[in-house]
Amino acid sequence: MTDHIGVLALQGAYQKHVKCLDALGAESRLVTRSDELPACSALIIPGGESTTMSLLMQEYSLFEPLKAFAETRPVMAICAGMILMADEIDDARVRPLGIIPYRALRNVYGSQLNSFTADIELCFDEEAYRAHFIRAPRFDQLSDDATIVATKDKDAVMVSYGRHLALSFHPELSDDARIHEYWLQQIIN
Ligand code: GLN
Repeated sequence: MTDHIGVLALQGAYQKHVKCLDALGAESRLVTRSDELPACSALIIPGGESTTMSLLMQEYSLFEPLKAFAETRPVMAICAGMILMADEIDDARVRPLGIIPYRALRNVYGSQLNSFTADIELCFDEEAYRAHFIRAPRFDQLSDDATIVATKDKDAVMVSYGRHLALSFHPELSDDARIHEYWLQQIIN
């Protein structure tokens, strides 16, 4: 089978993505090893802790395979995943995969206690979306080649680049399936 959506399961909030994909009728599989990637047509890198995920990626020899995967297949990256997708990060402990050209700023919106929900604007739907932000990162130095798909108070919070998507909030924590649905529509060919 080559049409599963992989969900990187090294650490963090991966299980809820499986449920979201299930609800939308998309088959998924958890990925912890590089030899599981060929069976995936796309991949979600979930939220979690980017410093830990970065170490685990190297420990599990996944860094280069993930970079190679993203050259031909779409990746949706959430929060810690968004940090890893960047080509530059404001924290030397996290090794950037360099998949989308921006600089990720970690923990810009405050500590765990400052996690919050807020309405954001989607470019593909008039109805606002209630987004969950948890120690959220911010996009900086975003390339003109990327497209801003959602904003909060005019700040980019979701960006597309080819068929890749990077988000600073957690769509899997919401009952609103529009974000996963949007990405699935973009990647069906
Ligand atoms: N602040 C976390 C980090 O730097 C990301 C938080 C999240 O994924 N919700 O990894």
